[in-house]
Amino acid sequence: MKNELPSSRDRYQAFQARNLKLDMTRGKPGPELLDLSNPMLTIVDSEHYHAAGGNDCRNYGILDGLPEAKNLFADYMDVAPEEILIAGNASLNLMYDEVVRSMLYGVPGGQSPWIQQGTIKFLCPVPGYDRHFNICSVLGIEMINVPMNDEGPDMHIVEKLVGEDASIKGIWCVPRYSNPNGVIYSDRVIDRFAQMKTAAPDFRIFWDNAYRHHHLVENPRDQKNLLDACKSAGVAQRALMFGSTSKITFAGGGLSFLAANKTNMDHTRKYLANQTIGYDKLNQLRHVRFFGDLAGLRKHMNQHRAILKPKFDAVDSVLTSELDGKDLAHWTRPEGGYFVSLDTRPGLAKKVVALAADVGVKLTAAGATYPGGIDPEDRNIRISPSLPGLEEIELATEVLAVCIILASE
Ligand code: PMP
Repeated sequence: MKNELPSSRDRYQAFQARNLKLDMTRGKPGPELLDLSNPMLTIVDSEHYHAAGGNDCRNYGILDGLPEAKNLFADYMDVAPEEILIAGNASLNLMYDEVVRSMLYGVPGGQSPWIQQGTIKFLCPVPGYDRHFNICSVLGIEMINVPMNDEGPDMHIVEKLVGEDASIKGIWCVPRYSNPNGVIYSDRVIDRFAQMKTAAPDFRIFWDNAYRHHHLVENPRDQKNLLDACKSAGVAQRALMFGSTSKITFAGGGLSFLAANKTNMDHTRKYLANQTIGYDKLNQLRHVRFFGDLAGLRKHMNQHRAILKPKFDAVDSVLTSELDGKDLAHWTRPEGGYFVSLDTRPGLAKKVVALAADVGVKLTAAGATYPGGIDPEDRNIRISPSLPGLEEIELATEVLAVCIILASE
């Protein structure tokens, strides 16, 4: 180890001299991924704007989506068409609105709006997605960290907390290829979510299935459907499931969806009718024409995998060649999703991110994967390899590894 440290410092200084400008901060799709969806830009034009059922997509109306779009994304989410609505280009918007509507109007089965119930709380499996935590933060919802393990959130802790505290109204979950650590929630965990007793009658699981069809392996694992599990357990209203095509077609021009049981959907539609007369149906038409059906969408996602897999492999191979056997860091090798999650030794993540920034490599801020931006152990770093090209990824990961070695001195 003593021999390696000076050479790492030399390497760090060499990086400094190169004026690097690399960015691995956010999970944006790279241009070559976006290019795959370019036919969507011409598939609807001045002569082709009617949906199969004759709907003129230029006009107002159809609050919860074109029937053919509902059919396609009901298949995608594995629900019935009456259990889904198709919205605008950001599922984040749908999630934010769903929390706000619950605060202002309450939810089916609840006695009063959340905002009238004093302090309310959400469970936040960590590390997790910063924008979920931001929603809680700006709405004054207290957050309670729950550790993740290989199967999902630690269910002993979840069950205990929701069982005894009626002010806990929700939990954020990214059930497949969790952001950032790529965990696939096991069927056992999903059954426990459905079967657990909650002190709050108006508790909801915010099931953000952003990466449901984003596989990096050829034969992805099956996963139980939360809504089905909740129906079997007699708590169908517990599940609110979200998804979007942001990482499938265009991140800035996709579709988002909410899926839930009919009672929840009727409730949401009732209030949503005050927010919009209907979402962008021309874009729904584009998506329906482009994919045809779920098989078409899956084929498209295979093309994504062909582009993304080498990027994830590059991160892993550089980290392995630089750090393997040194016990300085652990990182994930995800089977899907958009991120690699790396843990340094405790107390070093901020230092590593700052060292990398000083030589021109931007990484997601240390702490961003925790509520309030505070990683109690200061060790988690989220790596997003989807945007940069392969050479950039290799170089940025090498810089990261050298910074980890230096910081661990
Ligand atoms: N959920 C998760 C878990 C995400 O990682 C992201 C994007 N990084 C989103 C939601 C945002 O999706 P959208 O573009 O549909 O708002």
